[in-house]
Amino acid sequence: MFNSLQRFYHAVRSTDHNQKPVKGTKIKESCRFCDVSVSPGFDIVHEDDIFVAFRDRNPSSMHHIQLITKKHIDSVQSLSKADIELVKSIERIGHVILDSLDVPPHQRRLGFHIPPFNSVQHLHLHLQGLPYKSLARRMKYPVVQGGKGSVKGFSWFVDVSQLIELLERRRCVRVVPC
Ligand SMILES: [Zn+2]
Ligand SMILES: [Zn+2]
Repeated sequence: MFNSLQRFYHAVRSTDHNQKPVKGTKIKESCRFCDVSVSPGFDIVHEDDIFVAFRDRNPSSMHHIQLITKKHIDSVQSLSKADIELVKSIERIGHVILDSLDVPPHQRRLGFHIPPFNSVQHLHLHLQGLPYKSLARRMKYPVVQGGKGSVKGFSWFVDVSQLIELLERRRCVRVVPC
């Protein structure tokens, strides 16, 4: 089932994510997000000691920014309860950036792809000001509320507030309901 989902996902994903995921953290040299601040061609909208944010080259929505940590973190599945403050900082900075772009609160989407649906293996928040450019683009970022006992439902994308709740409950972030 994951294989067909992944094929579907790769069929609709945008070309900005055309790098194959890097397995493991050791081959950091091949990570295209590790040196964003010094790499040419990135349209940087925010930078501080810990984070960098840049415009997605092939935006899925009216505003589409990638907010990343300068330090290499593989994915949401590398995070634990100890990282909640970090995730809250990412969320806070994300809202400051969207404030500066005058994106109204109900038009904001902040979330992460869940492995194996993360096309770049370096934690990146998709920071979006809606609307999406097409239905196919919208389907790349589904926020699905959980049912009985789960924080999120079946989806390859996790909203930042769902992520914080999962970390608080010490749960692994998965595509299946968790
Ligand atoms: Zn990296
Ligand atoms: Zn992504």
